[in-house]
Amino acid sequence: MDLADGELPAYVYDLAALDAHAGAVRAALPPQVELYYAAKANPESRILAALAPHVDGFEVSSGGELAHVAEAVPTSAMAFGGPGKTPAEIASALALGVHRFHVESLHELRTLGHLAAGNAGTPVGVLLRFNLAVPARLLAAGALAMGGRPSPFGLDPGEADAAVRMLTDGSYPELELVGVHAHLASGLDAAELAAVAEAVADWATALARRHGVALGELNVGGGMAVDYADPGAHFDWAGYGAALGRIARDRPRLRLRIEPGRALTAYCGWYATEVLDVKRSHGEEFAVVRGGTHHLRTPAAKGHDQPCAVLPVADWPHPWPRPAGGPGPVTLTGQLCTPKDVLARAVPAAGLRAGDRVVFAMAGAYAWNISHHDFLMHPHPTVHFVGGTGAR
Ligand SMILES: *Cc1c(COP(=O)(O)O)cnc(C)c1O
Repeated sequence: MDLADGELPAYVYDLAALDAHAGAVRAALPPQVELYYAAKANPESRILAALAPHVDGFEVSSGGELAHVAEAVPTSAMAFGGPGKTPAEIASALALGVHRFHVESLHELRTLGHLAAGNAGTPVGVLLRFNLAVPARLLAAGALAMGGRPSPFGLDPGEADAAVRMLTDGSYPELELVGVHAHLASGLDAAELAAVAEAVADWATALARRHGVALGELNVGGGMAVDYADPGAHFDWAGYGAALGRIARDRPRLRLRIEPGRALTAYCGWYATEVLDVKRSHGEEFAVVRGGTHHLRTPAAKGHDQPCAVLPVADWPHPWPRPAGGPGPVTLTGQLCTPKDVLARAVPAAGLRAGDRVVFAMAGAYAWNISHHDFLMHPHPTVHFVGGTGAR
């Protein structure tokens, strides 16, 4: 697509690529496994709509996401997770008919139980989210463990019996214990994630057996690895799907569910911009691009170099000389007055010049929506969708 200078920086989302990718992910999963999308990774309405045919539902983690997803994809199922749900958020979820709550604490369970009282009709399904220990041997270096150490997420395993009792002793007749949720780490490869899922399934099965209840559902979360250093290396969905199939086969009455975010949408987004200045500082070359990490915070948040390509532009419309780089690598920074505004280091872009364009890949998840848009009051990027119906 052609972007005019005045449209830069720009976010470009390839909806056709997203459609193909989500279809391939779904096809790699056995039928017993439900696929939810964690909306927080990128809640753009058109992205949600493109995903909707491929997913069984959406995981939302705030009242804002709840209202937005309900409007963007009104016929889709939602599961409400996340810490610190307010009574008002829980009440709106109940009013919207949300059928799954991922409960994060005993206090939240009591709140939900009270608010659900008088909620005539179908029982409210509860999945208890647990902060289970992930055996260290299952994790590679670089994986971000959220489980098994002190954290605000989920119930402590020591509270498991009390939580199950609260749901089975008649205290909250409107609530139904349907299963267990565990999102324990992110950045795991398929073998690691499958081993974690199996360990969680064993733990949850033992809990259910101890209480003589059936375990209907097990949500093993998201966290599928996305390798920003190697954009072509995708998570092994076929391998993970096969492993989940084996877990499901051994537990025929258990419905497995996963809720990836990053690994579904990271690849469909691009952040395109232009070089404003090129200069040397103490022996290192810098190119300052229009925009920066206030639009694409991902590399600053994750501490990586965002993969990018330089598109040379022949034209230089100004009468003053055009800044140009030398033969060595260059650091691409943005317009913010902070040394943290680095998009990519050691980019092999010999002879890069002001006016050249730079396109950053893998900007479809935790990118625009996690960025501090208004810091320094630069204009926001323009947003474009290609490859979808009614693309502009
Ligand atoms: C963020 C989150 C996800 C998605 O994680 P990804 O790393 O984007 O796949 C899934 N479940 C929960 C509970 C989360 O908080």
